[in-house]
Amino acid sequence: MEITKDTVVTFHYVLTEVEGEQVESSYDVDPMAFLVGHQNIFPKLEDALMGKTVGDKVSATLAPVDSYGERQEGNTQRVPIKHLLTKGRLKPGQTVKVNTEHGARDATVVKVGLKNVDLDTNHPLAGKHLQFDMEVMEVREASQEELDHGHAHGVGGHQH
Ligand code: ZN
Repeated sequence: MEITKDTVVTFHYVLTEVEGEQVESSYDVDPMAFLVGHQNIFPKLEDALMGKTVGDKVSATLAPVDSYGERQEGNTQRVPIKHLLTKGRLKPGQTVKVNTEHGARDATVVKVGLKNVDLDTNHPLAGKHLQFDMEVMEVREASQEELDHGHAHGVGGHQH
């Protein structure tokens, strides 16, 4: 079965910075599942997967504008350490999760104080050109419930 709108695709991926290091690999954990055509993943990744089927391997390179955006200078914020979702000892350069009015966001520690921490609130992958090497593991029809919810259920998708 080919990947088209309203199918659920399960795939593994290796994410690498172009001319840089590997960032993450789903092979270390679970594959990712998503519902095609419902803005669940970066559009360029979806474009690359369209028409593919189980066992196909496909790569896509995304510019910042197509993934996490450009880095914005001056995006440093001082926040109380208690607002961090990441617990334990902090050190500069570390990626942490911080509670904001828009939900949990990734940020990078710039400086650690006694009660506050200075964070670079750019996404850690902002400004980077990213390569995704993907392997299609499963393609199936979406259930009516998944279409109603606008996302995939099960392993790699929403669990609820
Ligand atoms: Zn759901």
